[in-house]
Amino acid sequence: MSKFWSPLAASLVPYVPGEQPKDKTYIKLNTNENPYPPSPKVIEAIAAATNGDLRLYPDPTCEALVKATADCYGLSPKQVFVGNGSDEILAFTFAAFFNPEKPVLFPDITYSFYKVYAKLYNLQAELIPLDAGFNIRTEDYSRPNGGVIVPNPNAPTAQLLPLDAIRDLLSRNRDQVVVIDEAYIDFGGESAVSLIDEYPNLLVVQTLSKSRSLAGLRVGFAFGSEELIEGLNRIKNSFNSYTIDRLALAGAVAALQDEEYFRETTDKVIRTRERVISELKELGFKATDSKANFVFISHPEKPAKQLFGQLREKGVLVRYFEQPRIDEYLRVSIGTDEEMDAFIQALKEI
Ligand code: PMP
Repeated sequence: MSKFWSPLAASLVPYVPGEQPKDKTYIKLNTNENPYPPSPKVIEAIAAATNGDLRLYPDPTCEALVKATADCYGLSPKQVFVGNGSDEILAFTFAAFFNPEKPVLFPDITYSFYKVYAKLYNLQAELIPLDAGFNIRTEDYSRPNGGVIVPNPNAPTAQLLPLDAIRDLLSRNRDQVVVIDEAYIDFGGESAVSLIDEYPNLLVVQTLSKSRSLAGLRVGFAFGSEELIEGLNRIKNSFNSYTIDRLALAGAVAALQDEEYFRETTDKVIRTRERVISELKELGFKATDSKANFVFISHPEKPAKQLFGQLREKGVLVRYFEQPRIDEYLRVSIGTDEEMDAFIQALKEI
C-alpha cells in the first residue's frame, strides 16, 4: 500500500503470469508456449523491417495486418481488430462491451485474467460452476448478465465446447456480447469465426502466441460484426494509437501467410499430446480430454503440489494452481517429443 496509489490502483488484484525462470535452464512446460520456433519467413520479415524506418511510428490502423488477417480467415477487414496480444484485446473487450449494472458471467475455473479485468473496470463478476467433469453447461448462462466470456478450449481444463454449444450460448444471450476466447482453438477445435455473420453479439478472440509460435511478438486478433470491431477501436483509440510496433506488424503478416508451416507445427504438437496422454494414463494419471497445447492431469496417489515441487527439482517446470477444485491437478504444456520424454522420465523416477 502506498499513499501515492489511486483508490483504483490500491484495490486491484493483479494477474500473476507463469514463471519465466532465470536461475537455471528448465524444460519449460508452464506457460503454454509453442516448443517450435516461428516460421523462418517471420524471422526474415522482421529482419527486413529492422531498418531506419523504425524512426517512424507504425501504422495506427494496422491496415496491412488487418488485411492479411481478413484474407486468412475469409472475412472483411471491417470484421477484424488486431491488438498487442489477445490479453490487450480482452482488456479492451471488458471496457467496450460489458454492462456494469449486471454481472459478467464466466466459468468458476477459467483463465484467471478475467477476474482481474472485471476488477480493473469495476464490473461485477458471477462465476458459473463447471460441472463435475469440468464441462461448461451452456444452460447455466441464461441468467441476467452484462456480458459473457468463455475460453474455448477452456483453460486450464483444456476441454472443448462443440460449435452447437457455442450457438446455444449465443442464442441465450442475444442482447449481450458473448466473447469466445480461442487462444488454443487451433489444436483440435472448430472456431466460432464461422458464426459471426449470423450472430452480431459474437466476438471471437485469437492469438499468434500459441499455434503460430509468437508469444514473444505480442499479436492477437478479434473477429466480429462491424459494430463490435468499431467498439474495440473506440477503446483502443482512447488508450494507445500504436499498440503494434513495426516489427510485430511485419512478423505477424508473414506468420499468417505461412499456412503450411502452421499446419505442420500444430499437427506435431497434437501428435505429441496424444502420445503423452496415453503414456500418462499408463502411469496411473487421469487427464481431461485435451484439445489444447497442454494437458490437465491428476494422480490418485501423488499430491499435485508435491509433484510440482519434485518436477521442478528435476528441472521440469509445470503449472500448479492452488485453487479450490483444481488443487490436485497440474497443467503441463506440450513441448517437443524430447522434452516430453524427459518429463515422463522424471515422473517415472518420482
Ligand atoms: N486467453 C487465454 C485463455 C490464455 O491462456 C492466454 C495466455 N495466457 C491468453 C488469452 C493471452 O494470450 P496472449 O496475450 O499471448 O495473446
